[in-house]
Amino acid sequence: MHDQLMALAEELTAAGESPASACPDPVNAAMIRNWTQALGDRGDRWAETAPPAMIQVWSMPGLDRDKPASIADRALTLLNESGFTGVVATNCEQTYDRYLRHGERLRATMRFGGVTGPKRTGLGEGYFVTWYQAWYSGDERVAEMMFRVLKFRPRVGGAAKGRHPLRPAVGLDTRFFWDGVREGELRVQRCAECGRLRHPPGPMCPSCHATKRDHVAASGRGTLHSYVVHHHPPVPGHEPPFVVALVDLEEGVRMVGNLLDCPPDQVRVGMPVELVFQEMDDELTLPQWRPAGAPAAPVSGASASAASASRASASAASASASKAAPESAAEVAGGLPGLSVELTPTFVISTALATRDFTPVHHDTALARAQGSKDIFLNILTTIGLVQRCVLEGLPDAVLEGISVRLGVPAYAGDTLTMTGRAVDDRTVEVRGAVSLGDHAVATVRLKERT
Ligand code: ZN
Repeated sequence: MHDQLMALAEELTAAGESPASACPDPVNAAMIRNWTQALGDRGDRWAETAPPAMIQVWSMPGLDRDKPASIADRALTLLNESGFTGVVATNCEQTYDRYLRHGERLRATMRFGGVTGPKRTGLGEGYFVTWYQAWYSGDERVAEMMFRVLKFRPRVGGAAKGRHPLRPAVGLDTRFFWDGVREGELRVQRCAECGRLRHPPGPMCPSCHATKRDHVAASGRGTLHSYVVHHHPPVPGHEPPFVVALVDLEEGVRMVGNLLDCPPDQVRVGMPVELVFQEMDDELTLPQWRPAGAPAAPVSGASASAASASRASASAASASASKAAPESAAEVAGGLPGLSVELTPTFVISTALATRDFTPVHHDTALARAQGSKDIFLNILTTIGLVQRCVLEGLPDAVLEGISVRLGVPAYAGDTLTMTGRAVDDRTVEVRGAVSLGDHAVATVRLKERT
């Protein structure tokens, strides 16, 4: 299959740019108003031009039954037939040559960008498939987009499937800890008399023997105190070898958890680690660790076609250290005010429709759940729009030249999306969008030189 896939990729790439149909509507105020209202964007900014992050909206086929096939379809079909049935979008990069004016009529083109793989990823072995879309006004290119998905072979019998066989024993002394995990918080027990922290939790303070206790939420940052690499015996629900870490939390207590996203030969005592929440099944989430600042496993997507895709993505979710509070962002150099968006079902659905994305996982809860998702979730076009909103609320005079997004965990209805931005230099802003499961999107926004 590999050789066949590579030959196909070569053929598709060699075919170059293929014309797609004309965009159904000219750039118009009504669609822009729907979009700005749904996303909570300031509409008055767009009296003459269109929001650049709306570019893909103009060519979305919507509910058109005769929508043109994607240029990547043959490659994706071949992968499907070869068992790579999972799919998640991993990257989207948009380049804006200029802003569009109301009334402009666009046409779109597509070209194939290649296949790389097989690669081992957090979701399973897979191939990355890339394609490009470009938009033209007359003969002038006005924008381009790169889109990359991971087609993966869902792991069978892995931790992401079925009920995880090992459950923690939850008692009166430990319930607060597991309640915290469910809320995306790592809680450390504190003596309510002398204030000393202790872990594991217990009924009595070893210092002052008081039984009154409460807890604090840990930052999720720590360093590796010690570790073992487990090869044998087999542990139900875990695939050896895996790294069991003893972590010194910055609060001063020690905690055991698995170290994820780090090959055993790269583990070092003293390395900085950060908390991640690993969803073992629908009910059980475990606090685990990964190297601080390591890229999150690629996840989420517009198309949760494989039932296991979003389940697996949720289990690869990483979190918490990245769950930066918006107020802390403004304190760092170049920090933008940031956004906090309540992902109500109305928000998720109205933004999907305002971006002309009628994929059921963005509006049909029952269907989303039947496909293995926790709930309906935000579509990518909206995520990109919110990245734009975050930048322009912090830097109202900025003109966007492009947005590159690395996609992370899904942003489910019921969650809160916290977007923080930081100006790296005059022309670059980094935006991070976090939800309770971890990073939903990490974006680099390029700005045009200010004139
Ligand atoms: Zn005490």
